[in-house]
Amino acid sequence: MQPLLTRRDELLAQLAKGQTYDIAIVGGGATGLGVALDAAARGFSVVLVESHDFAKGTSSRATKLVHGGVRYLAQGNISLVREALHERTTLLHNAPHLAQPLPFIMPSYQWWETPFYGIGLKMYDALAGKAGLGRTEFLNRDQALSGLPTARTDGLRGGVKYWDGQFNDARLALALARSAATRGALLVNYCKAVDLLYTQGKITGLLCEDTVAGRQYAIQARCVVNAAGVWVDELRQKDGAANGQDGRRPTRPMVAPSQGVHIVVDRSFLDGDVALMVPKTADGRVLFAVPWLGKVILGTTDTPRDDLAREPNPFKEEVDFILNESARYLRKAPTRADVKSVWVGLRPLVKPHDDDGDGTKGISREHTVRVSRSGLVTVTGGKWTTYRAMAEDVLDHCAARALLEKRPKGVTTHLKLVGANIEAARIRSICLPPGLHSYGDEQEMVSSMPGAATLLCDGLTEGMVRFAARHEYAITVEDMLARRSRLLFLDARLAGSLARAVGNILLEETGLDPRVSDFEELAQHYVRLPE
Ligand SMILES: Cc1cc2nc3c(=O)[nH]c(=O)nc-3n(C[C@H](O)[C@H](O)[C@H](O)COP(=O)(O)OP(=O)(O)OC[C@H]3O[C@@H](n4cnc5c(N)ncnc54)[C@H](O)[C@@H]3O)c2cc1C
Repeated sequence: MQPLLTRRDELLAQLAKGQTYDIAIVGGGATGLGVALDAAARGFSVVLVESHDFAKGTSSRATKLVHGGVRYLAQGNISLVREALHERTTLLHNAPHLAQPLPFIMPSYQWWETPFYGIGLKMYDALAGKAGLGRTEFLNRDQALSGLPTARTDGLRGGVKYWDGQFNDARLALALARSAATRGALLVNYCKAVDLLYTQGKITGLLCEDTVAGRQYAIQARCVVNAAGVWVDELRQKDGAANGQDGRRPTRPMVAPSQGVHIVVDRSFLDGDVALMVPKTADGRVLFAVPWLGKVILGTTDTPRDDLAREPNPFKEEVDFILNESARYLRKAPTRADVKSVWVGLRPLVKPHDDDGDGTKGISREHTVRVSRSGLVTVTGGKWTTYRAMAEDVLDHCAARALLEKRPKGVTTHLKLVGANIEAARIRSICLPPGLHSYGDEQEMVSSMPGAATLLCDGLTEGMVRFAARHEYAITVEDMLARRSRLLFLDARLAGSLARAVGNILLEETGLDPRVSDFEELAQHYVRLPE
């Protein structure tokens, strides 16, 4: 099947038609895109607007784990872990080109660590049941070293090996968007929801603005879902103000943002295709070293933040923490000079109703759906792994409030995403350097694009850029190098050096400004470490 075209003028022409949709969704991250696909698959008419690019927010900045959450098990949150383990299997099945099993080893340097963590991980296996990806194993020193050949050897006693999954987050977001579009949904990036529309106190749509050309569009919809991630409170506050809440009692924010930093280094620091997991760092956090697209991701942190920056800066202590802790477990200690890219994501953690504190580590990672008096459905929290279950929950809430009729759920359980019609990957391609493997069953199509033989750098061709512009909603150099290819996240200097070449191809394809210099500046931001 030929992939759909994503020409911007045609998307906007459709938006201008003034159709009344069953559901309008604000936010093109994992949450909003999951709702769009589920609703479209149930036969509802769907429109989704994203103020920037799909997955520009938190959904391109995950640790890339499809996981039940070993640490939530330690917190005793069994239902969250069980749901996530179930969703893990579903995702691996529905997008095998983008989500695959990954073995992890927890190295032990104290005698009690192997039995203590091993028993917990055996419980993780038991909870997964048939959804398990592989058996948890207790390892002796030699076995631990054969899985993690670059782990620190002095004091190493053994370890525990367990299985979870890993994925390509931004490309999965695009696969969701494109899968929804093939079921009739209209999805528009660079289109910001600027206001809500009401009739007699009930929401009947929203006003959005094309941030490229500046034109506004009114969208009529029976149900409006606010899936704006850490930014959900902006629309909630507009809704509260429009519904008679005066200045003395503004809508209480739902989100307590917490930032997580990741550092990317060369593969030589963690040789092999096994991730390293440290369950308890010196200050009680979890640290991962994950092989991903030919590099290694180290992270992450959990630091409360008050602002909602689009490109948050890492704090010096966060970078020091990741490098120092990594040095305790890796034979070759990564230094600041080894950093290829540093990126920061904001977790949309949901505040408990009675919360006044500023710590975020203890806040639940579960999602929350709230429906306001006027009918604004807000969903936030949760994690990438559970996006599909969250979407079902959102549609349940819409039906419970009679905003949409009830239609049976479960339609996405076996729904293969765009590109997924391949045999389950025999090699774990997500560990390999970037290349055609990310395109799944569309590889041939990408290989037949004009410029497919012209390499811009290893793993990136002119043909891929043309494919992104024609079929994957890409407009800017950032869209291409941050989220279609993941080069900005893997090697920001190299990404910056390609900005002009990529910009010229995009301009030729779309006729729109590819914002080359903005990207050159952004690429510098991704290698700048706080002093
Ligand atoms: C550091 C870190 C590591 C993580 N690691 C993992 C992991 O390994 N595995 C896992 O399962 N989960 C992980 N998560 C969690 C997961 O990434 C998030 O739960 C998920 O991405 C949130 O998606 P979202 O769609 O709710 O938010 P977002 O991805 O932020 O999407 C919201 C979107 O709304 C848009 N928007 C905002 N305002 C408007 C408006 N007015 N109009 C239109 N659009 C608007 C934004 O531009 C944004 O794109 C991690 C999170 C962090 C921060």
